[in-house]
Amino acid sequence: MQFQFEQISRWPNAAIARHQLRQLEALLAHCHANVPFLRARLAQSGLSPGTALTMDAWRKLPPLTRAEVQEAGPALFALRIPQTHGRLIDWATSGSTGMPVTGRKSEIAQFVWMALSLRQALWHGFDLSGTLGVIRRTPPDTPRQQGYRQADWGPSLALVYPTGPAVQFDIRTSAAEQIAWLQREQPSQLASFPGIIAALARHCIAHHIDLPALKAVQTFGESLPDGFRDLVREAWGVRVWDAYSAEDGGFIAMQCPEHETYHVQSEATLVEVLRVDGTACEPGEVGRVVVTPLHNFAMPLLRYEIGDYAEVGAPCPCGRGLPVLTRILGRARHRAILPDGETRLFAGGQSFSRIPAIRQFQGAQVAPDVIEFRLVADRALTPAEEALIAAAMRDNLHPAFQVRFVYVNDIPRSPSGKFEIFRCEFADPAN
Ligand SMILES: [Zn+2]
Repeated sequence: MQFQFEQISRWPNAAIARHQLRQLEALLAHCHANVPFLRARLAQSGLSPGTALTMDAWRKLPPLTRAEVQEAGPALFALRIPQTHGRLIDWATSGSTGMPVTGRKSEIAQFVWMALSLRQALWHGFDLSGTLGVIRRTPPDTPRQQGYRQADWGPSLALVYPTGPAVQFDIRTSAAEQIAWLQREQPSQLASFPGIIAALARHCIAHHIDLPALKAVQTFGESLPDGFRDLVREAWGVRVWDAYSAEDGGFIAMQCPEHETYHVQSEATLVEVLRVDGTACEPGEVGRVVVTPLHNFAMPLLRYEIGDYAEVGAPCPCGRGLPVLTRILGRARHRAILPDGETRLFAGGQSFSRIPAIRQFQGAQVAPDVIEFRLVADRALTPAEEALIAAAMRDNLHPAFQVRFVYVNDIPRSPSGKFEIFRCEFADPAN
C-alpha cells in the first residue's frame, strides 16, 4: 500500500483526478443500488449509474450538509456492501454541537485510514522508538492523574514496525497537571489539539521548563493559530507536524514532508474547495471544504460539506501531484460575523498570547458588534495590556467591534474536548 501511495503521489494531478472519477463511478453505482436515501438525490441531479462521470456532472449533485447527515443518521447506511469490503465498524462521537454523531465504516475504509496513518509516520519521519504522549479525551475509567498506557503506538504503526510505548492523559486536566505528567513520561513525540499544545508551550516558556526528550509535536483536530509553529519552536526547539482529518470525513490532508502546506490525500478522499456560488476555488482563494471519502461503501458521504474553510495552494515544489491546501481555516462557528455579513476567522492571538499573566483566553462574539474576551489570568490586566488586546481583536476582525473583558476561573472546552480560541455565540452561521 505504501509503495502504491508513493507511486500515485508522483503522478500528474490530471491522472490522479481521472482515477478518482473511476472510483466515484463505482461508488455512485453502489449508492444507486444500496442506499435509497442517496438514490433519490442522484436521480434529481441527473446522475445515473453506468454512464461515464465527468467533474461537471458530479458538481450538479448538491453538497450534503452536516445537519442533513445528522438528521439522516442510519438512512445513510448502505443496505449491503460488497463482501470483499469486510465487516462493518460502528462509531460514535460526542459531536461538536453536543449532539452525538454516529457513523459506520467498512473494514476496507478502516484499512485505508490505517495505511494513511502509516504514511504520515513515514512522511514526517516519526521516531517510533521513543514514547508517544497523547493528550485527548481518555476512556471513562482511566485514572485522571495517571493517564492511560499502552504497549505501542497503535496498530497502524505497530503492525509494521516495532515502536515504543504510548501514554495518554485526559484533556480535561490543567496545563500544570499536563506538564507534571509530561515531565514524568518524557515523550519523544507529543500529540494533541493545537490549543492544548499552545497553552503548554506558553507555560513552559514562562516557567523555563524544558522537555529534553521531545523531538516533534503532532497536531490534529483544529486549525493552527497564527504563530503556533514559532511558539512551539521557541518552547522546545522542535517541529510541528499537522494533519487534517475528521472521524466523519476520513483523512483529508496532511502536511507536506518538505513544506508547511498540506497535501490532499487524494487516494482516499475527493476534496473540493468551493466558492459561494459552488464553483471551484483557484489557488489563493478560500472556500468551503466538501469531501467525498472514496472507499467507505458502508456509509457513503457524497460531497459532504464538513463545515471547514481552506485556502487552495499552487502545485507543490516538492513535485508531488497531490493537490495543495495552504491553510485550513476551521469551522464556521469559529468565525466572526462582520457588519457587512462577511465572516472572518480570528487569527490574531500571537500579539498578546505571550502576556505571561494570561493562562487561557477565548474571544466570543456575543452580539453583532461586541466581542467578549474571556480570560483565566494570574492577575488583572493593566489598561495598556487590555488596550493591546482590544486593538489586536479590532485589527484582525473589524474596527467597529467593542471589546469587553471578562475574568473567569475556567474556560470550558467543546464537548469533544477541544479548546476554542474564538466562538461566534449570537448566531450560528452555517452549522
Ligand atoms: Zn509538497
